[in-house]
Amino acid sequence: MQQLFHGGVHPEVDSLLTVEAPAFELPAPELLYIPLIQHKGAAAEPLVKVGDQVRLGQRIGDAEAAVTAAIHAPVSGEVRAIDAWHHPDGDTCPAIILENDGRDTPDEALLAPPRDLDALTGEEIIKAARDAGIVGMGGAGFPLSVKLSGSVGQIETVILNGCECEPMLHSDHSVMRHHADKVVQGGLLLRRAVQAKELIIAVEDNKPDAIAALEQAAAGLPQVSVRALPTRYPQGGEKILVKALLKREVPMGKLPAAVGALICNVDSAATLAEACRSRRPLISRNVTVAGSLLGKPQVLHARIGTPFSALIAHCEPKSPPRKLLSGGPMMGRAQYSMEVPVTKTVSGILLMTEEEARAVAPTTNCIRCGRCVKNCPMLLSPCYLNFYSDLGNLPELERLNIDNCIECGICTYSCPAHLPLLQKFRLGKLELGKQRRAAKQRKEGGKQS
Ligand code: SF4
Ligand code: SF4
Repeated sequence: MQQLFHGGVHPEVDSLLTVEAPAFELPAPELLYIPLIQHKGAAAEPLVKVGDQVRLGQRIGDAEAAVTAAIHAPVSGEVRAIDAWHHPDGDTCPAIILENDGRDTPDEALLAPPRDLDALTGEEIIKAARDAGIVGMGGAGFPLSVKLSGSVGQIETVILNGCECEPMLHSDHSVMRHHADKVVQGGLLLRRAVQAKELIIAVEDNKPDAIAALEQAAAGLPQVSVRALPTRYPQGGEKILVKALLKREVPMGKLPAAVGALICNVDSAATLAEACRSRRPLISRNVTVAGSLLGKPQVLHARIGTPFSALIAHCEPKSPPRKLLSGGPMMGRAQYSMEVPVTKTVSGILLMTEEEARAVAPTTNCIRCGRCVKNCPMLLSPCYLNFYSDLGNLPELERLNIDNCIECGICTYSCPAHLPLLQKFRLGKLELGKQRRAAKQRKEGGKQS
Protein backbone atom coordinates (compact mmCIF):
# COMPACT_ATOMS: atom_id res chain seq x y z
CA MET A 1 0.00 0.00 0.00
CA GLN A 2 1.20 3.51 -0.81
CA GLN A 3 2.40 5.24 2.36
CA LEU A 4 2.50 9.03 2.48
CA PHE A 5 4.11 9.49 5.91
CA HIS A 6 6.42 7.63 8.29
CA GLY A 7 4.97 5.02 10.63
CA GLY A 8 1.31 4.90 11.45
CA VAL A 9 -0.93 1.87 11.61
CA HIS A 10 -4.08 0.56 10.01
CA PRO A 11 -6.05 -0.97 12.88
CA GLU A 12 -8.57 -3.59 11.78
CA VAL A 13 -11.57 -2.30 13.69
CA ASP A 14 -15.21 -2.38 12.83
CA SER A 15 -17.50 0.10 14.51
CA LEU A 16 -20.55 -1.94 13.38
CA LEU A 17 -22.33 1.20 12.23
CA THR A 18 -23.08 2.86 8.92
CA VAL A 19 -23.84 6.42 7.89
CA GLU A 20 -26.42 5.53 5.23
CA ALA A 21 -28.96 7.75 7.01
CA PRO A 22 -28.17 11.24 8.36
CA ALA A 23 -27.28 11.45 12.06
CA PHE A 24 -30.34 11.01 14.29
CA GLU A 25 -31.35 14.26 16.05
CA LEU A 26 -31.28 13.28 19.71
CA PRO A 27 -33.99 15.15 21.65
CA ALA A 28 -32.46 17.66 24.08
CA PRO A 29 -32.53 16.38 27.68
CA GLU A 30 -34.22 18.10 30.63
CA LEU A 31 -30.93 19.28 32.12
CA LEU A 32 -27.86 20.31 30.14
CA TYR A 33 -24.38 20.83 31.61
CA ILE A 34 -22.42 23.37 29.60
CA PRO A 35 -18.73 23.62 30.59
CA LEU A 36 -17.13 27.06 30.44
CA ILE A 37 -13.98 25.47 29.00
CA GLN A 38 -14.58 23.71 25.70
CA HIS A 39 -11.66 25.19 23.79
CA LYS A 40 -7.97 26.02 23.96
CA GLY A 41 -7.28 29.32 25.69
CA ALA A 42 -8.91 31.26 28.48
CA ALA A 43 -12.05 29.90 30.14
CA ALA A 44 -15.27 31.75 29.35
CA GLU A 45 -16.88 33.74 32.16
CA PRO A 46 -20.62 33.27 32.68
CA LEU A 47 -22.74 36.10 31.24
CA VAL A 48 -25.86 34.83 33.03
CA LYS A 49 -26.79 34.17 36.65
CA VAL A 50 -28.85 31.56 38.42
CA GLY A 51 -32.56 32.09 37.72
CA ASP A 52 -32.07 33.86 34.36
CA GLN A 53 -34.25 32.81 31.43
CA VAL A 54 -32.20 32.19 28.28
CA ARG A 55 -33.05 31.63 24.65
CA LEU A 56 -31.71 29.07 22.19
CA GLY A 57 -28.43 30.37 20.76
CA GLN A 58 -28.03 33.17 23.32
CA ARG A 59 -24.43 33.92 24.29
CA ILE A 60 -24.12 32.74 27.91
CA GLY A 61 -20.34 32.74 28.36
CA ASP A 62 -17.37 34.63 26.94
CA ALA A 63 -14.06 36.26 27.89
CA GLU A 64 -11.95 39.27 26.91
CA ALA A 65 -8.80 37.20 26.32
CA ALA A 66 -7.20 37.04 22.88
CA VAL A 67 -7.53 33.25 22.74
CA THR A 68 -10.95 32.08 23.89
CA ALA A 69 -14.36 31.10 22.51
CA ALA A 70 -17.91 32.17 23.29
CA ILE A 71 -20.40 29.66 24.72
CA HIS A 72 -24.09 29.68 23.72
CA ALA A 73 -27.30 28.20 25.11
CA PRO A 74 -28.13 24.92 23.32
CA VAL A 75 -31.79 25.16 24.40
CA SER A 76 -34.12 27.80 25.82
CA GLY A 77 -34.87 27.57 29.53
CA GLU A 78 -33.68 28.61 32.96
CA VAL A 79 -30.22 28.74 34.49
CA ARG A 80 -30.50 26.33 37.42
CA ALA A 81 -26.93 26.52 38.69
CA ILE A 82 -23.37 27.52 37.83
CA ASP A 83 -21.19 24.93 39.46
CA ALA A 84 -18.37 22.44 39.02
CA TRP A 85 -19.33 19.47 36.83
CA HIS A 86 -17.61 16.51 35.15
CA HIS A 87 -15.60 17.35 32.06
CA PRO A 88 -14.55 14.86 29.34
CA ASP A 89 -10.93 15.93 29.80
CA GLY A 90 -11.07 13.92 33.04
CA ASP A 91 -11.38 16.75 35.56
CA THR A 92 -14.21 18.94 36.79
CA CYS A 93 -14.88 22.38 35.38
CA PRO A 94 -17.33 25.23 36.09
CA ALA A 95 -20.46 24.64 34.05
CA ILE A 96 -23.74 26.43 33.42
CA ILE A 97 -26.56 24.02 34.22
CA LEU A 98 -29.65 24.77 32.15
CA GLU A 99 -33.16 23.45 32.63
CA ASN A 100 -34.69 22.92 29.21
CA ASP A 101 -38.18 24.44 28.81
CA GLY A 102 -38.75 22.27 25.74
CA ARG A 103 -39.69 25.25 23.56
CA ASP A 104 -36.40 26.09 21.79
CA THR A 105 -37.38 29.77 21.74
CA PRO A 106 -34.68 31.30 19.52
CA ASP A 107 -32.48 34.23 20.39
CA GLU A 108 -33.28 37.38 18.38
CA ALA A 109 -30.05 37.09 16.38
CA LEU A 110 -31.29 33.82 14.91
CA LEU A 111 -34.45 35.51 13.59
CA ALA A 112 -32.55 37.89 11.29
CA PRO A 113 -32.83 37.18 7.53
CA PRO A 114 -30.20 34.79 6.12
CA ARG A 115 -26.99 36.40 4.82
CA ASP A 116 -25.66 36.12 1.28
CA LEU A 117 -22.46 34.07 1.66
CA ASP A 118 -20.95 35.48 -1.54
CA ALA A 119 -21.23 39.04 -0.18
CA LEU A 120 -19.33 38.44 3.08
CA THR A 121 -15.85 39.94 3.41
CA GLY A 122 -12.94 38.11 5.04
CA GLU A 123 -13.32 40.22 8.18
CA GLU A 124 -17.03 39.44 8.38
CA ILE A 125 -16.31 35.70 8.05
CA ILE A 126 -13.77 35.85 10.90
CA LYS A 127 -16.25 37.80 13.03
CA ALA A 128 -18.96 35.21 12.29
CA ALA A 129 -16.59 32.45 13.49
CA ARG A 130 -15.92 34.44 16.69
CA ASP A 131 -19.61 35.22 17.28
CA ALA A 132 -20.57 31.57 16.79
CA GLY A 133 -17.91 30.22 19.18
CA ILE A 134 -16.53 27.83 16.56
CA VAL A 135 -13.50 25.75 17.53
CA GLY A 136 -11.60 22.82 16.02
CA MET A 137 -14.26 20.12 16.32
CA GLY A 138 -11.88 17.26 15.48
CA GLY A 139 -10.64 17.43 19.06
CA ALA A 140 -8.08 20.24 19.01
CA GLY A 141 -10.55 22.87 20.20
CA PHE A 142 -8.51 25.83 18.98
CA PRO A 143 -10.78 28.87 18.40
CA LEU A 144 -11.31 29.19 14.64
CA SER A 145 -11.44 33.00 14.60
CA VAL A 146 -8.01 33.18 16.29
CA LYS A 147 -6.55 30.71 13.80
CA LEU A 148 -7.96 32.70 10.89
CA SER A 149 -7.06 36.19 12.06
CA GLY A 150 -3.45 35.11 12.63
CA SER A 151 -3.17 33.59 9.16
CA VAL A 152 -4.49 36.25 6.77
CA GLY A 153 -2.17 36.62 3.78
CA GLN A 154 0.14 33.79 4.91
CA ILE A 155 -1.77 30.81 3.55
CA GLU A 156 -1.42 29.24 0.15
CA THR A 157 -3.60 26.17 0.75
CA VAL A 158 -6.62 25.63 2.96
CA ILE A 159 -7.01 21.94 3.77
CA LEU A 160 -10.31 20.62 5.05
CA ASN A 161 -9.51 17.64 7.21
CA GLY A 162 -11.95 14.84 6.47
CA CYS A 163 -9.59 12.11 7.70
CA GLU A 164 -11.55 11.03 10.75
CA CYS A 165 -9.42 11.68 13.83
CA GLU A 166 -9.70 8.06 15.03
CA PRO A 167 -10.66 4.60 13.80
CA MET A 168 -14.26 3.59 14.67
CA LEU A 169 -15.54 7.18 14.59
CA HIS A 170 -17.84 8.31 11.78
CA SER A 171 -18.97 11.76 12.91
CA ASP A 172 -17.10 13.64 10.17
CA HIS A 173 -17.95 10.89 7.69
CA SER A 174 -21.64 11.56 8.28
CA VAL A 175 -21.18 15.33 7.85
CA MET A 176 -19.32 14.86 4.54
CA ARG A 177 -21.83 12.37 3.22
CA HIS A 178 -24.99 14.28 4.18
CA HIS A 179 -23.86 17.92 4.31
CA ALA A 180 -21.25 18.02 1.55
CA ASP A 181 -22.58 21.36 0.22
CA LYS A 182 -22.05 23.02 3.60
CA VAL A 183 -18.55 21.55 3.91
CA VAL A 184 -17.56 23.00 0.51
CA GLN A 185 -19.20 26.37 1.29
CA GLY A 186 -17.36 26.49 4.62
CA GLY A 187 -14.07 25.70 2.89
CA LEU A 188 -14.61 28.49 0.36
CA LEU A 189 -15.38 30.93 3.20
CA LEU A 190 -12.16 29.93 4.98
CA ARG A 191 -10.21 30.36 1.76
CA ARG A 192 -11.64 33.87 1.33
CA ALA A 193 -11.00 34.76 4.98
CA VAL A 194 -7.26 34.03 4.76
CA GLN A 195 -6.88 34.94 1.04
CA ALA A 196 -5.58 31.48 0.11
CA LYS A 197 -5.13 30.27 -3.46
CA GLU A 198 -6.58 26.79 -3.24
CA LEU A 199 -8.84 24.57 -1.19
CA ILE A 200 -8.20 20.84 -0.78
CA ILE A 201 -10.65 18.52 0.93
CA ALA A 202 -8.76 15.46 2.19
CA VAL A 203 -10.67 12.22 2.76
CA GLU A 204 -9.42 8.67 3.33
CA ASP A 205 -10.22 6.16 0.63
CA ASN A 206 -12.33 3.95 2.91
CA LYS A 207 -15.14 6.53 2.57
CA PRO A 208 -16.06 6.44 -1.13
CA ASP A 209 -19.58 7.71 -0.43
CA ALA A 210 -18.23 10.86 1.24
CA ILE A 211 -15.75 11.40 -1.62
CA ALA A 212 -18.56 11.09 -4.18
CA ALA A 213 -20.79 13.55 -2.28
CA LEU A 214 -17.97 16.09 -1.95
CA GLU A 215 -16.98 15.77 -5.61
CA GLN A 216 -20.55 16.45 -6.59
CA ALA A 217 -20.72 19.49 -4.28
CA ALA A 218 -17.40 20.82 -5.64
CA ALA A 219 -18.22 20.19 -9.32
CA GLY A 220 -17.49 23.26 -11.44
CA LEU A 221 -15.33 24.92 -8.78
CA PRO A 222 -11.79 24.92 -10.24
CA GLN A 223 -10.18 26.21 -7.04
CA VAL A 224 -11.48 23.21 -5.03
CA SER A 225 -10.13 19.68 -5.19
CA VAL A 226 -11.20 16.56 -3.32
CA ARG A 227 -8.23 14.27 -2.58
CA ALA A 228 -8.60 10.62 -1.60
CA LEU A 229 -5.72 9.43 0.61
CA PRO A 230 -4.76 5.85 1.51
CA THR A 231 -6.40 5.02 4.84
CA ARG A 232 -3.81 5.09 7.59
CA TYR A 233 -3.96 6.33 11.19
CA PRO A 234 -3.09 9.11 12.30
CA GLN A 235 -3.48 10.90 8.98
CA GLY A 236 -6.00 13.25 10.62
CA GLY A 237 -3.21 14.84 12.69
CA GLU A 238 -2.48 18.33 11.29
CA LYS A 239 1.25 17.89 10.78
CA ILE A 240 0.82 14.40 9.35
CA LEU A 241 -1.81 15.61 6.90
CA VAL A 242 0.42 18.45 5.68
CA LYS A 243 3.19 15.91 5.11
CA ALA A 244 0.88 13.45 3.33
CA LEU A 245 -0.76 16.03 1.07
CA LEU A 246 1.80 18.76 0.46
CA LYS A 247 5.06 16.88 1.23
CA ARG A 248 6.04 19.68 3.62
CA GLU A 249 7.40 19.26 7.16
CA VAL A 250 5.93 21.56 9.80
CA PRO A 251 8.90 22.53 12.02
CA MET A 252 8.75 21.50 15.68
CA GLY A 253 6.87 24.01 17.80
CA LYS A 254 5.30 25.64 14.72
CA LEU A 255 1.82 25.52 13.21
CA PRO A 256 0.99 24.44 9.63
CA ALA A 257 0.76 28.17 8.75
CA ALA A 258 4.59 28.14 8.90
CA VAL A 259 4.54 26.14 5.65
CA GLY A 260 1.61 28.02 4.08
CA ALA A 261 -1.20 25.68 5.12
CA LEU A 262 -4.33 26.15 7.20
CA ILE A 263 -6.09 23.00 8.39
CA CYS A 264 -9.72 22.95 9.44
CA ASN A 265 -11.94 20.04 10.42
CA VAL A 266 -14.81 19.41 7.96
CA ASP A 267 -17.48 19.72 10.66
CA SER A 268 -16.02 23.07 11.79
CA ALA A 269 -16.16 24.23 8.15
CA ALA A 270 -19.81 23.17 7.78
CA THR A 271 -20.62 24.88 11.10
CA LEU A 272 -18.95 28.06 9.83
CA ALA A 273 -21.07 28.00 6.66
CA GLU A 274 -24.23 27.72 8.76
CA ALA A 275 -23.07 30.46 11.17
CA CYS A 276 -22.30 32.80 8.26
CA ARG A 277 -25.68 32.13 6.66
CA SER A 278 -28.10 31.95 9.61
CA ARG A 279 -25.96 33.16 12.57
CA ARG A 280 -26.54 29.81 14.32
CA PRO A 281 -23.73 29.29 16.85
CA LEU A 282 -22.03 26.01 17.67
CA ILE A 283 -24.65 24.47 19.98
CA SER A 284 -24.87 20.91 18.66
CA ARG A 285 -22.66 18.38 16.92
CA ASN A 286 -22.34 14.84 15.58
CA VAL A 287 -21.16 12.24 18.08
CA THR A 288 -20.39 8.61 17.19
CA VAL A 289 -21.55 6.21 19.88
CA ALA A 290 -19.69 2.96 19.28
CA GLY A 291 -18.87 -0.35 20.93
CA SER A 292 -19.70 -4.02 20.56
CA LEU A 293 -21.98 -4.03 23.59
CA LEU A 294 -24.40 -1.59 21.97
CA GLY A 295 -27.47 -2.99 20.26
CA LYS A 296 -27.63 0.02 17.96
CA PRO A 297 -24.30 1.86 17.58
CA GLN A 298 -24.78 5.03 15.53
CA VAL A 299 -23.90 8.64 14.86
CA LEU A 300 -26.16 10.99 16.82
CA HIS A 301 -26.58 14.74 16.49
CA ALA A 302 -26.70 16.00 20.08
CA ARG A 303 -26.90 19.37 21.80
CA ILE A 304 -23.78 20.52 23.58
CA GLY A 305 -24.26 19.79 27.29
CA THR A 306 -26.16 16.51 26.81
CA PRO A 307 -24.86 13.89 29.29
CA PHE A 308 -23.20 10.81 27.74
CA SER A 309 -25.81 8.66 29.54
CA ALA A 310 -28.57 10.05 27.27
CA LEU A 311 -26.65 9.17 24.09
CA ILE A 312 -25.73 5.72 25.38
CA ALA A 313 -29.32 4.95 26.44
CA HIS A 314 -30.48 5.73 22.90
CA CYS A 315 -28.06 3.14 21.46
CA GLU A 316 -29.50 0.21 23.41
CA PRO A 317 -26.59 -0.99 25.58
CA LYS A 318 -26.73 -4.71 26.40
CA SER A 319 -24.73 -4.30 29.62
CA PRO A 320 -22.77 -1.59 31.45
CA PRO A 321 -19.34 -0.92 29.91
CA ARG A 322 -16.13 -2.00 31.66
CA LYS A 323 -14.56 1.16 30.34
CA LEU A 324 -16.06 4.34 28.86
CA LEU A 325 -13.96 6.56 26.61
CA SER A 326 -14.53 10.05 25.31
CA GLY A 327 -13.05 9.75 21.83
CA GLY A 328 -11.89 6.68 19.96
CA PRO A 329 -9.81 3.61 20.79
CA MET A 330 -6.41 5.25 20.19
CA MET A 331 -6.60 8.65 21.87
CA GLY A 332 -9.81 8.39 23.88
CA ARG A 333 -9.86 9.46 27.53
CA ALA A 334 -11.33 7.15 30.16
CA GLN A 335 -14.33 8.61 31.96
CA TYR A 336 -15.39 8.05 35.54
CA SER A 337 -18.99 9.18 35.11
CA MET A 338 -21.71 8.59 32.51
CA GLU A 339 -22.98 12.11 33.33
CA VAL A 340 -20.07 13.83 31.65
CA PRO A 341 -21.47 16.13 28.93
CA VAL A 342 -20.91 16.40 25.18
CA THR A 343 -18.69 19.41 24.47
CA LYS A 344 -17.66 21.10 21.22
CA THR A 345 -14.73 18.70 20.85
CA VAL A 346 -16.37 15.38 21.70
CA SER A 347 -16.63 13.48 18.42
CA GLY A 348 -17.12 10.01 19.85
CA ILE A 349 -18.05 7.87 22.82
CA LEU A 350 -16.68 4.35 23.00
CA LEU A 351 -17.96 1.65 25.33
CA MET A 352 -15.59 -1.24 25.96
CA THR A 353 -16.11 -4.72 27.32
CA GLU A 354 -13.79 -6.31 29.86
CA GLU A 355 -11.84 -8.07 27.15
CA GLU A 356 -11.55 -4.99 24.94
CA ALA A 357 -10.33 -2.88 27.80
CA ARG A 358 -7.51 -5.39 28.27
CA ALA A 359 -8.28 -4.98 31.94
CA VAL A 360 -6.50 -8.24 32.68
CA ALA A 361 -3.47 -7.82 30.38
CA PRO A 362 -0.50 -7.34 32.73
CA THR A 363 2.25 -4.92 31.80
CA THR A 364 5.83 -6.18 31.62
CA ASN A 365 9.16 -4.42 31.27
CA CYS A 366 10.08 -2.95 27.90
CA ILE A 367 11.54 -5.76 25.78
CA ARG A 368 13.30 -3.37 23.37
CA CYS A 369 11.40 -4.66 20.39
CA GLY A 370 11.44 -1.25 18.69
CA ARG A 371 7.85 -1.43 17.41
CA CYS A 372 6.97 1.89 19.01
CA VAL A 373 9.94 3.58 17.29
CA LYS A 374 9.09 2.00 13.94
CA ASN A 375 5.46 3.16 14.08
CA CYS A 376 5.76 6.61 15.66
CA PRO A 377 4.66 9.08 12.95
CA MET A 378 6.61 11.89 14.62
CA LEU A 379 9.93 9.98 14.50
CA LEU A 380 10.22 9.95 18.29
CA SER A 381 11.70 7.22 20.49
CA PRO A 382 8.78 6.25 22.73
CA CYS A 383 10.80 3.52 24.50
CA TYR A 384 13.31 6.13 25.74
CA LEU A 385 10.53 8.58 26.56
CA ASN A 386 9.03 5.76 28.63
CA PHE A 387 12.32 5.20 30.44
CA TYR A 388 12.77 8.87 31.34
CA SER A 389 9.06 9.26 32.22
CA ASP A 390 9.49 6.52 34.82
CA LEU A 391 12.50 8.38 36.21
CA GLY A 392 10.62 11.70 36.17
CA ASN A 393 13.56 13.15 34.23
CA LEU A 394 11.93 16.18 32.59
CA PRO A 395 15.12 17.62 30.98
CA GLU A 396 15.66 14.31 29.13
CA LEU A 397 12.02 14.21 28.04
CA GLU A 398 12.46 17.71 26.66
CA ARG A 399 15.69 16.74 24.91
CA LEU A 400 13.92 13.79 23.29
CA ASN A 401 11.30 16.19 21.90
CA ILE A 402 8.29 15.05 23.90
CA ASP A 403 6.67 18.34 22.85
CA ASN A 404 6.44 16.94 19.34
CA CYS A 405 4.32 13.98 20.49
CA ILE A 406 0.88 14.35 18.91
CA GLU A 407 -0.63 11.89 21.43
CA CYS A 408 -1.81 9.54 18.69
CA GLY A 409 -1.46 6.49 20.93
CA ILE A 410 0.18 4.34 18.26
CA CYS A 411 3.06 3.42 20.57
CA THR A 412 0.63 2.16 23.22
CA TYR A 413 -1.30 0.24 20.56
CA SER A 414 1.91 -1.37 19.22
CA CYS A 415 3.56 -2.22 22.53
CA PRO A 416 3.65 -5.96 23.32
CA ALA A 417 4.53 -5.10 26.94
CA HIS A 418 1.16 -3.29 27.22
CA LEU A 419 2.89 -0.21 28.60
CA PRO A 420 0.59 2.83 28.97
CA LEU A 421 2.99 4.98 26.96
CA LEU A 422 0.52 7.64 25.77
CA GLN A 423 -0.75 8.18 29.30
CA LYS A 424 2.81 8.57 30.60
CA PHE A 425 3.64 11.08 27.86
CA ARG A 426 0.52 13.13 28.56
CA LEU A 427 1.58 13.32 32.21
CA GLY A 428 5.15 14.18 31.20
CA LYS A 429 3.93 17.03 29.00
CA LEU A 430 1.69 18.30 31.80
CA GLU A 431 4.61 18.28 34.25
CA LEU A 432 6.87 20.07 31.77
CA GLY A 433 4.17 22.68 31.17
CA LYS A 434 3.85 23.27 34.94
CA GLN A 435 7.60 23.58 35.29
CA ARG A 436 7.82 26.10 32.42
CA ARG A 437 4.97 28.21 33.82
CA ALA A 438 6.61 28.25 37.26
CA ALA A 439 9.96 29.28 35.70
CA LYS A 440 8.24 32.06 33.75
CA GLN A 441 6.50 33.35 36.87
CA ARG A 442 9.79 33.33 38.79
CA LYS A 443 11.44 35.27 35.98
CA GLU A 444 8.63 37.84 35.83
CA GLY A 445 8.65 38.13 39.64
CA GLY A 446 12.42 38.70 39.53
CA LYS A 447 12.03 41.50 36.96
CA GLN A 448 9.42 43.33 39.06
CA SER A 449 11.41 43.22 42.31
S1 SF4 B 1 1.72 8.97 21.11
FE1 SF4 B 1 3.49 10.31 20.72
S2 SF4 B 1 5.29 9.01 21.02
FE2 SF4 B 1 3.50 7.62 20.80
S3 SF4 B 1 3.46 7.13 18.61
FE3 SF4 B 1 2.13 8.92 18.87
S4 SF4 B 1 3.46 10.70 18.49
FE4 SF4 B 1 4.80 8.91 18.82
S1 SF4 C 1 6.96 -1.21 21.85
FE1 SF4 C 1 6.95 -1.40 24.09
S2 SF4 C 1 8.29 -3.13 24.49
FE2 SF4 C 1 8.68 -2.51 22.35
S3 SF4 C 1 10.43 -1.07 22.53
FE3 SF4 C 1 8.56 0.15 22.60
S4 SF4 C 1 8.14 0.39 24.79
FE4 SF4 C 1 9.57 -1.32 24.60
